[in-house]
Amino acid sequence: MDIARKLELLADAAKYDVACTSSGVNRSGKKGQLGSATQAGCCHSFTPDGRCVTLLKVLMTNVCTCDCAYCVNRVSNRSIERTAFTPRELADLTIGFYRRNFIEGLFLSSGVAGNPDNTTELMIRALEILRHEYGFRGYIHAKAIPGASPELLQQLGFLCDRLSVNMELPSAASLALLAPDKTKTNILAPMRQICDNCTEDAESRALSRRTAGPLAQRKTKTAARAFAPAGQSTQMIIGASPESDHHILNLSASLYRTLSLKRVFFSAYVPVTRDPRLPQTDRVPLNREHRLYQADWLMRFYEFSVDEIIDEADPFLDLEVDPKAAWALRHLDLFPVEVNTASYEVLLRVPGIGVRGAKLILRARRHSTLGADELRKLGIAWKRARYFVTCKGAYAVPGADFSAPWLRAQLAAPIDGGAHGRRSAKEVPGQLSLFDGLDAQTGHVQPKMPAAPSPLPQGRGGEELLLAGGGAAALPLQERRTGAQRRLEPKSGAVPGNGARPGAGRSAPRPQTAPRAFAALKPAVEALF
Ligand code: SF4
Repeated sequence: MDIARKLELLADAAKYDVACTSSGVNRSGKKGQLGSATQAGCCHSFTPDGRCVTLLKVLMTNVCTCDCAYCVNRVSNRSIERTAFTPRELADLTIGFYRRNFIEGLFLSSGVAGNPDNTTELMIRALEILRHEYGFRGYIHAKAIPGASPELLQQLGFLCDRLSVNMELPSAASLALLAPDKTKTNILAPMRQICDNCTEDAESRALSRRTAGPLAQRKTKTAARAFAPAGQSTQMIIGASPESDHHILNLSASLYRTLSLKRVFFSAYVPVTRDPRLPQTDRVPLNREHRLYQADWLMRFYEFSVDEIIDEADPFLDLEVDPKAAWALRHLDLFPVEVNTASYEVLLRVPGIGVRGAKLILRARRHSTLGADELRKLGIAWKRARYFVTCKGAYAVPGADFSAPWLRAQLAAPIDGGAHGRRSAKEVPGQLSLFDGLDAQTGHVQPKMPAAPSPLPQGRGGEELLLAGGGAAALPLQERRTGAQRRLEPKSGAVPGNGARPGAGRSAPRPQTAPRAFAALKPAVEALF
């Protein structure tokens, strides 16, 4: 099988792994070596439902001995073509794309080929070629295979930036039902090991820095790599099993607390196989996943506890209003708050005021008294915040009925002019697939236009802005491109990519956004091999 076909199959098989890990480490380029990693992370791809994920995201192999009911790669699924990269192929592919400026890093997962140790050894070999032979310093996120031996996990951790193990499902009972080859123990054991190894590595590095006095030997030229310096994350499938949001958030909180996880990713269940054990649904509403991310954000950055966000008696998050607004509606006795005197902690609880906004308010009010205009200039989401604050003692919504039902109706209503309002009525281009619509001569992708407005989830952050191209269906095909796509198109005669020379020690290149990168992938693969 040729390498382009392998890439097509293994990139497609990896698309259900959610890891918007643009977070991570800062590591600048170095003379004589390739690549760098920034906290902005790898370049981005978009899953079919519009979520933003990381490139180059591939499986080592889609051969798997396990039989997870929800997974397209499961052993009992005879309808898919199976293949595997050799470590050399994967390393060459990654470096080839990196040099062409298509990607900033690698997200590597795998099915279980033979046994977990075999698979992990293949992954280690590929990463060794990348790190040691090519001197690749870019970002690598590797998925550990549950059941692999601790020694191999240790080796893998020193080759990648982030190492993660998928929780898969939120309870042991659901695992037993839907992923019978996995157990809570064989998932938690590697997570515990990664946590311990990260801590030990950080402590030993801190100790050696403290003990290194002025007479210490000069630093060796190539410092030893840290163990998974960007920490670990995990992923859970939401909606394939009956666990409530209350259960899921409590589990996430305990993972953050006990295993020092950097992120817990939630992936709304998408039916890709038929199995009587799976829920008979088209798909789980993406809004549920979105609300879980919002709640997760509240726990990590807004000092909310799980009990404040969700009640065991009503164990699912409100899909109409976000969890912070829902909390405010349950605590109207604490509002409105005066923005000119409220503490940082109180400001953080106001819907429409984020962490950055609260800090800006504290700084700005040292110099003047703030009113609505000043708050708008500070970037506060005034259309939400105005219901919960007073400025200079005056309530900003005269005639408002300050009651939970009325406020709820205002907060749930589409916001005119926002992503929920004016823009939401516009048609957006359909999601591009890796090679669909590839023009063999130009190497450009002609995006498919949906006949009906896209069901893209609303309010999901910046990713839909790249996808939004209102009124596109009314334009000739050549014109149906987003601004980002147009900016990324090459001048006539340009080579795929940005034509930048692959140079050692250059600073981090800006990643291509998905449509342009995808367009150029196929010719580039052919050129490589
Ligand atoms: S272990 Fe389960 S989830 Fe992972 S690839 Fe195999 S069947 Fe899919």
